[in-house]
Amino acid sequence: MENRRDFLKTSALAAAAVLTNVPGSKAEEKEKIIKPLTVKPIVVSTWKFGIEANEEAWKILANNGRALDAVEAGVKVPESNMKERSVGLGGRPDRDGHVTLDACIMDEFANIGSVACLEHIKHPISVARAVMEKSPHVMIVGDGALQFALAHGFTKEKGVVEESQKEWKEWLKTSNYKPPVNIENHDTIGMIAMDSNGNFSGACTTSGLAYKMHGRVGDSPIIGAGLFVDNEVGAATATGHGEEVIRIAGCHTVVELMRQGKSPQQACEEAVARIVKITKNRGKDLKDIQVGFIAINQNGQYGAYCVQTGFNFAVYNGSGNTLIDSDSFIK
Ligand code: ASP
Repeated sequence: MENRRDFLKTSALAAAAVLTNVPGSKAEEKEKIIKPLTVKPIVVSTWKFGIEANEEAWKILANNGRALDAVEAGVKVPESNMKERSVGLGGRPDRDGHVTLDACIMDEFANIGSVACLEHIKHPISVARAVMEKSPHVMIVGDGALQFALAHGFTKEKGVVEESQKEWKEWLKTSNYKPPVNIENHDTIGMIAMDSNGNFSGACTTSGLAYKMHGRVGDSPIIGAGLFVDNEVGAATATGHGEEVIRIAGCHTVVELMRQGKSPQQACEEAVARIVKITKNRGKDLKDIQVGFIAINQNGQYGAYCVQTGFNFAVYNGSGNTLIDSDSFIK
């Protein structure tokens, strides 16, 4: 049931919709008055595979389910896809030929769980949730994470898929490590949602940068870097070069900016601006860096911004499931 705060929020937004659509026909205005904007539920996720993942999440959200269950179910879609080269066991290996997975999850109560450098497990996001719900810790890595997963009923799967192995062997001929910007060599699914009760959760899962050093961990399993949720404010998640996201505690930064009154769009832009400034101060070339942020707030507003073109994200709300090209700092 809607509480008073939600009712006021919805009414205010509906009124704003009318005002911002003037001049429209009288009938159109009336239509907008009697049909209040739906601000929740909403789910937003990174990259094109977010569309399919959102569909799964929406099944839960549309039935008044919990955002936590929605984001876990959503990101399991690309994790299950063995043709997906940047998430789950279908992902590209590190330079030593191991597929090592990073994932984290956060709910409306600030419960958190994370795994890093986890091998042989199909759904690292569910292991992260098990860390959150069934261990006294918040992060378990490497062999310890695998042992934890096996002890909690997860099955040990084969390592690298054949096609990835072929590509890796090809890569070994030059062993040139230079993660390119945008798709093909890296991509993470980060998903953030607000459910019909107005509660937020987020999930983030990846195989990380292809041909990374063995043991390398990016931003994706680090709460505050690759993902952050604050039920009083909203949620944010990131994709791109994890080292750059960690450098500014990216998603915590985005959420704190929203707390200070910035819209999700403004908050993502300011976080990217910090990355730009720091990169220049460090004498690095911005062209070699891609980072994208997405964010949502309590009003059901969303925003996204990235360093350079090529990043897209999927939004599912009352208006359907849409893939949107993110605006970027470098045009
Ligand atoms: N952020 C991920 C990492 O650094 C990779 C990506 O999103 O492309 O591991």
